[in-house]
Amino acid sequence: MKLILLGPPGAGKGTQAQRLVDKFQIPQLSTGDMLRAAVKAGTPTGMRAKSVMDAGGLVSDELVVGIIADRIAEPDAKRGFILDGFPRTVGQAEALDALLARTDMRLDAIIELKVDEKALLGRIEKRAAETMAAGGTVRADDNPEAFKVRLDAYRTQTAPVSAYYAGRGTLKTVDGMMGIDDVTKAIDGVLGV
Ligand code: ADP
Repeated sequence: MKLILLGPPGAGKGTQAQRLVDKFQIPQLSTGDMLRAAVKAGTPTGMRAKSVMDAGGLVSDELVVGIIADRIAEPDAKRGFILDGFPRTVGQAEALDALLARTDMRLDAIIELKVDEKALLGRIEKRAAETMAAGGTVRADDNPEAFKVRLDAYRTQTAPVSAYYAGRGTLKTVDGMMGIDDVTKAIDGVLGV
């Protein structure tokens, strides 16, 4: 099973991706997680990405496409994967198409979680509060200022990715405003499982 999950920050992609990981035993490839790990490890990639990420902007297509190309080539991604947070620009979507064609892979589904923008900041604030209560470290970009930049990046650069796939008739839309279990059921319905 090879999937893309699309949707704005706070849409619930990570939560649903985790459930799909358990169901299909395939890895979740989250460019956000991979970039945060690179920042933490202080790799050259991490050092290039850190300030842009903290401010809520997008790192360069070249950098994330490279990360994904390497990751998809690993053995555990042979049977399938869930792309979460990628592609985030039309350029990335085109690069992914080229990569899949080159490696003779096909996507099974592209699923967009639709969420009312007004609900998103509240969700992000809740995640930050829960992380703090659990004694964890709140993401540097989970604050209202960076969130505004993330939402702007989503509107201008990522929303066109949905249009890119919708134009080819491959996009499935799921209502992300429902409860977590109902969203999972709707995704199962789209996947026919
Ligand atoms: P969100 O909760 O907003 O979906 P992610 O964890 O997916 O956040 O990503 C966090 C940050 O990492 C983004 O704001 C951006 O700076 C960077 N990032 C993640 N994926 C990409 C990508 N595909 N292209 C460019 N930047 C990315």
